[in-house]
Amino acid sequence: MASNDKTYMRLYVNVENQASITCPQCNTVKVANVGPYKGSRKPLTVKCRCGWVFHAILETRKFYRKSVNLTGHYARAGTPNYVRMIVENLSLSGIGFRVKGRTTVKIGDLLIIRVALDNKTQTEIVKDIAVRVVRQADDAFIGGEFCDTRTFYKELAWYLNPN
Ligand SMILES: [Zn+2]
Repeated sequence: MASNDKTYMRLYVNVENQASITCPQCNTVKVANVGPYKGSRKPLTVKCRCGWVFHAILETRKFYRKSVNLTGHYARAGTPNYVRMIVENLSLSGIGFRVKGRTTVKIGDLLIIRVALDNKTQTEIVKDIAVRVVRQADDAFIGGEFCDTRTFYKELAWYLNPN
């Protein structure tokens, strides 16, 4: 049943279980809720408005979220004022961290995060994130999504490898 012209598009899923799907024929971008398919390894068949039918695979490694306890810093995009944070979880698509006290960070804000991984080489991850979750408590919790999810980030992928 395999046919050679069948190429599988890889879809990256964000923290809200959405993937943006670009039609290879007409370049229309559609944001779809792919949550129900997350566990499945079967390729999805996508039909675009233009009539083009193509196949896509959910990038499952993205779903693996590692619980960590790492010290890092964040700043608002374009400012040099870094604030200390404790990173609680990390995945290829995003990060969750705690900051002291209440925060003025809001959903939709763009931040830059710098985190040194606790691997042998202490790789420093520097990434832009878009804030998706803010929970105010004694310590605020902020969850964000990496802006450049298309970039395959070798060190992070290696670090997150569950095996
Ligand atoms: Zn199309």
